[in-house]
Amino acid sequence: MNILNLIEKKKRGKSLIKEEYKWFIDSYIEGTLKDYQATALLMAIYFQGMEDEELYDFTILMRDSGDVLSYPDLKKTVDKHSTGGVGDLTTLVIGPLAASLGMTVVKMSGRGLGHTGGTLDKLESIKGLRVELTKEEIHNFAKENGVVVGGQTGNLAPADKKFYALRDVTGTVDSIPLIASSIMSKKLASGAEKLVLDVKLGSGAFMKDLGSARKLANYMVEIGKRAGVETRALITDMDQPLGFAVGNALEVAEAVEILKGQGPDDIRELSINLVGHMGVITLGLELEEAKSMAEENLDKGRALEAFKQMVVKQGGTTDFIDNLEDFTKAKASIEVKAQKDGYVSSINAELVGRASLALGGGREELEDQLDLKAGIVLKKKRGKRVKAGDVLALIQSDTKDLEEAKTLVLKAYEIDGRAEDKDLIIDIIK
Ligand code: URA
Repeated sequence: MNILNLIEKKKRGKSLIKEEYKWFIDSYIEGTLKDYQATALLMAIYFQGMEDEELYDFTILMRDSGDVLSYPDLKKTVDKHSTGGVGDLTTLVIGPLAASLGMTVVKMSGRGLGHTGGTLDKLESIKGLRVELTKEEIHNFAKENGVVVGGQTGNLAPADKKFYALRDVTGTVDSIPLIASSIMSKKLASGAEKLVLDVKLGSGAFMKDLGSARKLANYMVEIGKRAGVETRALITDMDQPLGFAVGNALEVAEAVEILKGQGPDDIRELSINLVGHMGVITLGLELEEAKSMAEENLDKGRALEAFKQMVVKQGGTTDFIDNLEDFTKAKASIEVKAQKDGYVSSINAELVGRASLALGGGREELEDQLDLKAGIVLKKKRGKRVKAGDVLALIQSDTKDLEEAKTLVLKAYEIDGRAEDKDLIIDIIK
């Protein structure tokens, strides 16, 4: 086979067959195909897209490029995946909440990079808690507790890892078929029997318009189903950060509030909906029944109990749960105030994420040290009326100057006439 032929074919809008994708992936992993040649084909895919058959073949080949995990003795396994947002701490709520309903969640999470946060960093703000777990620990903790959240074990979809690094520096990340195959190759390799996807739409997300979000969701749901993993996708609003808190310890504290049956309405609603859909496909419940069970388990402290067990199993201490103020207190903090009267019409989630980065709460490079207390607490969300001088947000850090973040948060807030109402759950694809 010859790379030039494949590039020519794709460039002219023709489909490639499975053998051709296999040769492409194998040659790139082996290193016989150069970065510039692989880039040319990825760019052709970027412009020409993929037919359903090609997308499925490419995804399955990437899944099979490394370990494909399975947990035959774990019952009712289900995974949740979010396409990435700001202030999105739902994994911390959903894992324990789903476990409290009888599902098993083996969640392999990542670290934050750029303006989006990572669940592993958030969890590491809990004293003693370990996220680098062995395969045996992951398996045993899931079996005993119904929930475990750790870093990736095994070598999952290495082809995707290599392609993603290349896409990142060649302008080919924002291709819907390439995103769909990238996410699904890893999810299908990670061993869950069912999957609920949270496809984010808005300023803080990869998908900026509803048509693109629907296309991505449809692609992923179809790939999942065809591979034997029942999959649903919720398209949800990311035109402002979720909840009030953005930052590692701050988001853990907010998750604990939700698990105590309190906390911001949007995260509670999103968590109940996601767990509701997980309950439908995993436990065979009706949606309303699953959602009301989830609500009850939040309000009665059952989900909090599952969270505490998870923290203890993974080596963490739980005393912070009763002292969230100390847990989140940073050395320096300032208020960001509104400069005019009006309504908050939007809060650019990406800029708030960048403010968190400037405070030390995120990393530019994978090896950067994090300031776990750094972050932002939004005091006014979309739709709120404000007067000049009202506090819009608090920003805090243990290590960094606060001025750059203050400028970014002010820029993120758009204040003008009355804000339109937006739904949190925009669409459901199944
Ligand atoms: N997340 C992924 O895992 N892959 C993409 O291509 C985009 C987001």
